Amino acid sequence: MLDVLGCAATAPTPYGAASSYLVDVGDGVVLVDAGPGSLMAYAARYPLEALRGIVVTHLHADHSLDLMAWAYRWTFPRVLPRIPLFVPPGETARIAAFDALFGIPTLPTMHAPITQAWDVRELVLDGKREERIAGVSLRAFAARHAVPSAALRFTLPDGRVLAFSSDTGYCAPVVEAARNADLFVCEATYLEADASALEGHGHLTARMAGELATEAGAKHLVVSHLSDPEDGPQALADARDTFAGELSLAIPGLLL
Ligand SMILES: [Zn+2]
Repeated sequence: MLDVLGCAATAPTPYGAASSYLVDVGDGVVLVDAGPGSLMAYAARYPLEALRGIVVTHLHADHSLDLMAWAYRWTFPRVLPRIPLFVPPGETARIAAFDALFGIPTLPTMHAPITQAWDVRELVLDGKREERIAGVSLRAFAARHAVPSAALRFTLPDGRVLAFSSDTGYCAPVVEAARNADLFVCEATYLEADASALEGHGHLTARMAGELATEAGAKHLVVSHLSDPEDGPQALADARDTFAGELSLAIPGLLL
C-alpha cells in the first residue's frame, strides 16, 4: 500500500530523501511529494514507466523541489507518457514560474518542462471532489499550513484507505482526511514547539499526531517528517502516549 522513498523534513540527509512516498495502485504507483532526492530513490527501485501520477501536497521545497529533476527526466531525451500532476489550488502559477526558471528554449520538449511533462491539475480541498488516478480514488482536504497544503485520502480498489496529513497544524479537515483510515502518514515535525510554529506556521508535535490519529479513528499511524531524524524513538514514545493503535516510524524503504 505504501512505500516510503524519503521522509526528511528538510534537504536530503544521511537518512535519505526528503518527503516522497509511493502509493501502490496495483498496476503501478503514485508519487506523493517530490522532495529532494526522490527521483534518485525512486529510480533505484522502480522503472519510470510504473509511475501513474504525481500529487504534490504543497510547494515547500522539501516536498516539491525535485519536480524539476523529474520533469527533465520525463521530457528528455524523449517525452514519456503524459500522466497527471496534482498541485494545491492556485499553485499552477508557481509551477509556471518554476518552468520559466529552468525551461530550455532550444529544446522543443523542454521549453516548460513540468507543463510539457504532465497534465497539471489543481486539487479542490473540500474533501468531496473525487479525482481518479489509475483506478484509485483521491479526495483532498485543506490542511493548515503557511501555504496551500492538501491532506490526501486515497481509497484503493480493495477499499483500504491510505491518508496523508501533508504539513499541517491541528485542524478538523485533516481529521476528516484520516477518518477510519487503514494507514495514516502524519507529520510530526517537532517533539516540542511554541504556538507560532504549531499554529502560526502550521506543524504538529508527535504527541499531537497521535491525538489527531485517535480523533480520526485511524488504525495504523506512521509518524513522519521529523525535523531531527534522531528524534525517532522519542517521537514514537510521544505518539504512543496519545494513540493506542498500530504505530510506525517512517524511514526510507519502509513498506506497509
Ligand atoms: Zn511545509
